[in-house]
Amino acid sequence: MTEQLIKRIEKLKTERHAVILAHNYQPGEIQDLADFTGDSLGLSIQASRTDADVIVFCGVRFMAETAAILSPDKTVLLPEKTAGCPMADMINAEQLRQLKRENPDALVVCYVNSSAEVKAESDYCCTSANAVEVVNSLPEDKRIIFVPDRHLGQFVAERSGRGLILWPGYCTTHVLITVDDIKAARAKYPDAIVMAHPECTEPVKELADELLSTGQMLKFAAKSTAKRFIIATEKGIIHTLKKQNPEAEFYPASERAICPNMKKITIDKVIASLENMQYKITVDETIRVKAKKALDRMVEILPVK
Ligand code: SF4
Repeated sequence: MTEQLIKRIEKLKTERHAVILAHNYQPGEIQDLADFTGDSLGLSIQASRTDADVIVFCGVRFMAETAAILSPDKTVLLPEKTAGCPMADMINAEQLRQLKRENPDALVVCYVNSSAEVKAESDYCCTSANAVEVVNSLPEDKRIIFVPDRHLGQFVAERSGRGLILWPGYCTTHVLITVDDIKAARAKYPDAIVMAHPECTEPVKELADELLSTGQMLKFAAKSTAKRFIIATEKGIIHTLKKQNPEAEFYPASERAICPNMKKITIDKVIASLENMQYKITVDETIRVKAKKALDRMVEILPVK
């Protein structure tokens, strides 16, 4: 990025009293210009703690919505209005209501990768980092509906020993990582540690050394004495991993593991977002209050530092 562009963004940020947040899966140049990088919930909490009036959320829609749920007094902007999450779109509020009618005694845990309407229909929210703890904290005699990601749900069911009612949603990017990819990467880098995200398919997860959320991957790499890592998640995180651990080597398990929606954000769109205050993400107040309860309950179980 040129000096001129950096100055322009800084000027706009000051004028708008804005901060820029970027998800770990964003293009490297977007992560580099952000004030904060992280996972979706971490960023939303960061957003709620800043005194900025405007939050430019470089990520996908459900992330900006989560920031709007937690920070109703701030203006949340998504620089590209079509940046959505196919997994979040795999279940809507009516489908979840139907599932609840079929299982009237069950509690609902929804992955943060879901719409505000789905969160509003849920009892608890969770992230890939805390899903097991959230489920473990629920009464043992309660059945649990877990939406929308069946692969994260399967991981939680295995780790918690609970039989979950799963929704057949999945991440269209993580399922592109195959068993053959992991085997080929292992053959090439036999000394490397394989870190896989729980959104990967079960056969891929079985081949991994560590199953970790993106935030946990960053912590693991920082503490590990290993020098090589194979990363089975969206490729964007390798930018941050390399930046934070310049002495280590990181290889994507698959070159195909790219989320096209995450890559829709460009520097020009961030500038246009600040200039034109676009695209404002708002959540209907009734939905917001209900969705916030699911998020608050999660934080009550597992306070976010
Ligand atoms: S990587 Fe998967 S879960 Fe994340 S935004 Fe893209 S499609 Fe959704």
